[in-house]
Amino acid sequence: MRIRTEYAQEAAAIPTYWLTDTEEVYAYLQQKVLKGAVGLLGHSAGRRPIWMVSYGTPREGKGTTTYSGSLGCNDVKAYLGPDYGKRVMLIIGGVHASEFEGIAGIVNLITVLEQGVDLRGKPWPDLVQAAEQLDRILLIPILNVDGRARLPIRMEPYRGSDNLPHQYLTSGAWLDGANIGWPKVKQYIPLDFSQTEFPGTYCNDGGVNLQHDDFFGNPQPETKALFDLLARERPDITLNMHTGAPRNNYYMRMLTPFLENALVPVQQGLYRHVHTALTLAGLQGSHDLALEADPKRQPPQWPFNLDSAINLHCGSLSVTIESPCHAFSGKNRAGAEVRHEPDALIDAQLVAYEAGMTFLLKKGGRCNWAPGYRQTYQL
Ligand SMILES: [Zn+2]
Repeated sequence: MRIRTEYAQEAAAIPTYWLTDTEEVYAYLQQKVLKGAVGLLGHSAGRRPIWMVSYGTPREGKGTTTYSGSLGCNDVKAYLGPDYGKRVMLIIGGVHASEFEGIAGIVNLITVLEQGVDLRGKPWPDLVQAAEQLDRILLIPILNVDGRARLPIRMEPYRGSDNLPHQYLTSGAWLDGANIGWPKVKQYIPLDFSQTEFPGTYCNDGGVNLQHDDFFGNPQPETKALFDLLARERPDITLNMHTGAPRNNYYMRMLTPFLENALVPVQQGLYRHVHTALTLAGLQGSHDLALEADPKRQPPQWPFNLDSAINLHCGSLSVTIESPCHAFSGKNRAGAEVRHEPDALIDAQLVAYEAGMTFLLKKGGRCNWAPGYRQTYQL
């Protein structure tokens, strides 16, 4: 498969804490994961293994009904099963394979959970403490291993404000060399690789962008494996880590998924909690919490994607969090250029994970987020 040589350039100096290649990540997990367990989630459309790491003890037993049934009978515990009170968190990276920040972030999180410090030697005591109080943590560093295999680099060089090379690596180019671009790329699922110079790395080897799979019809093997995991583990919160922060306010941002109504206020609380943590860590455009963390200022609701499907499949509060990219700059609200160094990008990942965990501890999990149908509507 052709990839334009000038766009497939590797960064001149790659920090040792920046692990994003499937093989190097797996080798690292094999060597360093001692407290957790490395497991096989499943295989991709291209028959590549997808690895995950788990900590803690899973929910035991099963519920007596489907997720939908549990909402219908006004008792989500009937789906969650006898261990409904356990608090379970899932973090997914690399749904889009060129979006390295989440992959590198999850590897650093695993290092924190194993050693108390990240790959830079930076301690995260509050994160460690929060993680220890959760019952179960599931981490998938790279879901789209097919897309990742298509990209022969571990880190892009920084190219100033030019994001076209990154766009090429992400959403590909047609045979005439023109970038397919976003959101045009979503018009073609599955993408016909024969029509492309390079199909990008959004999609798996079946040409399917896993963020927009045919969830209820004929899902891809990656989605099927993920959904089987979700059914087994029934996570309270799922963080779906991407790279795609807004160019005009170029800081980490949670998107607003379409979710069942009961979770809308909970998602708003999570938004406030995560963005408050990012603001206090100096990782937003200002120090003004009213501006940065107010859920009323969230992006418009995203109509339907993987997060919605995860929610409706197993009740998890699933959100996409968009990071800025190491490879190009954006603008702040005042129009000044903003560049994020890899160091700050890893910090933002870890701050977001920690905030997700502390929110879950504070709010008590899915069984507490289910005001019943009959409480609001008398039949
Ligand atoms: Zn993405």
